[in-house]
Amino acid sequence: MKRFVYADNAATTRISPQVLDAMMPWLTDGYGNASSIYRKGREARIAMEEARHKIERALGVPESRPDFPVEVYFTSGGSEADNWAIKGVAHLMAQQGKKHIITTVFEHHAVLHTCAALEKEGFDVTYLPVSDKGLIDPAQVEQAIRPDTALVSVMYANNEIGTIQPIPEIGAICKQHGVLFHTDAVQAVGNLPIQVAEQNIDLLSLSGHKLHAQKGIGVLYCRKGIKLPNLIDGGAQERGHRAGTENIAAIVGLGAAVEAACADIAGRAARLSAMRDRLIAAIGQIPRVHLNGDAVRRLPGNVNFSFEGVEGESLLLMLDALGICASSGSACTSGSLDPSHVLLGIGLPHEVAHGSLRLTFSDENTMEEIDYILDVLPGVIERLRAMSPLWERMSKA
Ligand SMILES: *Cc1c(COP(=O)(O)O)cnc(C)c1O
Repeated sequence: MKRFVYADNAATTRISPQVLDAMMPWLTDGYGNASSIYRKGREARIAMEEARHKIERALGVPESRPDFPVEVYFTSGGSEADNWAIKGVAHLMAQQGKKHIITTVFEHHAVLHTCAALEKEGFDVTYLPVSDKGLIDPAQVEQAIRPDTALVSVMYANNEIGTIQPIPEIGAICKQHGVLFHTDAVQAVGNLPIQVAEQNIDLLSLSGHKLHAQKGIGVLYCRKGIKLPNLIDGGAQERGHRAGTENIAAIVGLGAAVEAACADIAGRAARLSAMRDRLIAAIGQIPRVHLNGDAVRRLPGNVNFSFEGVEGESLLLMLDALGICASSGSACTSGSLDPSHVLLGIGLPHEVAHGSLRLTFSDENTMEEIDYILDVLPGVIERLRAMSPLWERMSKA
């Protein structure tokens, strides 16, 4: 029986019915420009500001703390938020002679390539190595801080191996040393409790399409007082920092998605980790497999294995033929033959990194789907290994 199982929710998610419902009025009758003063415009502005408040609340912005004013800027997604946060802080702090940035080797390319661009401009970037379990030690961050350090950027949870970083500890260290702290929380929002104030997070990126909102919408949260340079010059939208008529439907949908995701973090963790742990236990029975990333400090919906003697692309194609959507490395690296920088970062040899499989789940998945994956996966691995000259050599060794 052919089935369809979408197990690539770290790449993107389906728009949920409740998000679509929230968006629909703003795609039809609610077409007013949020800058217009008549009712149709004012209604759009009110809807947008409500979405902004929902996001502030979900991120743990204190309701009534005048000492913690914040800005939530709508962006075109996680990549734009990462670019703006890092380039913005870099250019801001360069005016004070601070031109050093600390990040890690296993960030998303939106962070890594932004840092590489800054290096070309003369900034100095330290890329912290990650442990074989996929974790950063806060002490590494502290040791790397210099008098000219402008920014630390460490992702909240990794998109490939799902490992969760010690963000509150890193935030405390940055605060103590007077260094700004950015975290790419695209994979974390709705999966982990985020408290920007308590966790000393100065800047945070999130993206709609990873949590059942639309593609092309995201947020850069920024503690007020950080005078980020404008991203887009033009009209007065987003307090003049990012001009352009706002996409109200996408913004309202994002507000609904973030609110829904953050209202049930514990429930989602329980449901998804049951699926994850069942897969991890069963796949672990296959000979010569490695779980990538720490088994405990990992996102509830993330499973990532390497199968020795298996080629990742072939594995994905065979699973696709069985109706299973999965990924090997990240969506951004598939299409190239280089193994994932994350898997190389945790120390996997090239051949092993090539044979990796990432399965990521959301509220739309069921235990029945996990059963189906477990029904077919061992046979697929066996067939691929039977065809592999590499496996033949390895299994004799
Ligand atoms: C998907 C993702 C991004 C990019 O977000 P877009 O909205 O697709 O630009 C950035 N960082 C992480 C960790 C991601 O998973």
